[in-house]
Amino acid sequence: MNEVKKPTICIIGGGAAGFFGAITCAENIKEAQIIIIEQNQTVLNKVKISGGGRCNVTHACFDPKELVMYYPRGHKELLGPFFKFQPKDIFDWFDLRGVELKIEKDNRVFPISDKSTTIIDCLIENAKACQIQIWNQTKITDLFQNSNNQWNLRTGSGRNIVADAVLVATGSCPFIWDVLGKFHEIVEPVPSLFTFNIQHAILSDLQGISMANIEINLDGHKIQTEGPLLITHWGLSGPAVLKMSAWGARLFHAMNYRFTIHINWTGMKSNEVERILLKQKFEQPKKQLINLPMFEIPFRLWKNLLSYIKIDTSITWSQIDDFQLQRLKMILTKCTFKVNGKSTFKEEFVTAGGIVLEEVDFRTMASKKVKNLYFAGEVLDIDALTGGFNFQAAWTTAYLAGTAIAKEFS
Ligand SMILES: Cc1cc2nc3c(=O)[nH]c(=O)nc-3n(C[C@H](O)[C@H](O)[C@H](O)COP(=O)(O)OP(=O)(O)OC[C@H]3O[C@@H](n4cnc5c(N)ncnc54)[C@H](O)[C@@H]3O)c2cc1C
Repeated sequence: MNEVKKPTICIIGGGAAGFFGAITCAENIKEAQIIIIEQNQTVLNKVKISGGGRCNVTHACFDPKELVMYYPRGHKELLGPFFKFQPKDIFDWFDLRGVELKIEKDNRVFPISDKSTTIIDCLIENAKACQIQIWNQTKITDLFQNSNNQWNLRTGSGRNIVADAVLVATGSCPFIWDVLGKFHEIVEPVPSLFTFNIQHAILSDLQGISMANIEINLDGHKIQTEGPLLITHWGLSGPAVLKMSAWGARLFHAMNYRFTIHINWTGMKSNEVERILLKQKFEQPKKQLINLPMFEIPFRLWKNLLSYIKIDTSITWSQIDDFQLQRLKMILTKCTFKVNGKSTFKEEFVTAGGIVLEEVDFRTMASKKVKNLYFAGEVLDIDALTGGFNFQAAWTTAYLAGTAIAKEFS
């Protein structure tokens, strides 16, 4: 009797998507040799530094239709996958393996230990329990298909591996996109989730000041975002800025990160702001402007705004004339800043770009171009806003790929 050979499944990349895909596949296949191939000495390096070392595993958003709205690239394609595997499933997955997750008040989800190593240990232990081999310090330098629809993988040391299926989970490493360019179209990678560099008198000496809800508009374009804002030594950061960096990632790259934004510090319509300012003038005529910051604007920012429009800070509300009131309304609702470059947001950053989504079957994450090749995680042209959404895309796409490979080779 002929012995049936176990299929060999190679996962390129020992990150979140690679581990999750490998474990899912191993848990659903009868017999297989599963190998995670990682170029670095250690695996799961991004998980380790993620979320400021706490790993923001996912986001507590359990409606797939709402969840996809957080993905500037990939929202259409991820809808079906999120109906199959979404944040609720990630809670269950880690819970079943002894890791408890918690939801913070902004709906970000972290391990209860507040340590990314909890997630790393869980993934490594589960991979070992499934007898998944982990080959560190092995870089895949090329791959090509043989006549049996198997894959030949070449490593940096010249060694060849023959695999029945390959899951590419290489994140945003540009090298592999060059290799894959012979099978797939690649959208040029550009950074997303960055902060804005601005030098402006209004922001001087205000680092550390934050506001709970402001609105930002990109001059000349329809991109508008809302949310908390943080003033830093180099400019502006916070969720409203990061959201804008994600929605405008390609546009900002094309503009060489030089553009103009308008901030509405009040988050309100300008006629409403005018009405409130007039009410203040009539109700508090004897109070000095400087002593009554409005719209929850911190005192030092309020002072800088008044100085910038040259309103004498010692005047009272009764002394403010119509022209000054209009200038105050303008600076509160349309405060213009020139952005001159970007800085990395240390808690989370991603790359927009990668494998063109139309060339991937989102039921299985299989290539539509070549057989037995699958994709998961950031290697795809998918990226999200900050808040745990990027890992969720990695878990979901890896789950679909791992399940599909197991089904195909069982
Ligand atoms: C500082 C930082 C903090 C972050 N924090 C968060 C967070 O809290 N929450 C969140 O949702 N997202 C976060 N992200 C984004 C998130 O880390 C990524 O979206 C996620 O790691 C993507 O997972 P991946 O497995 O697709 O890719 P990666 O994690 O990048 O893994 C890919 C792996 O493939 C390996 N590889 C590449 N090419 C080869 C090759 N040719 N041969 C062998 N191996 C190869 C790489 O070395 C790497 O280990 C953060 C990102 C950064 C940079």
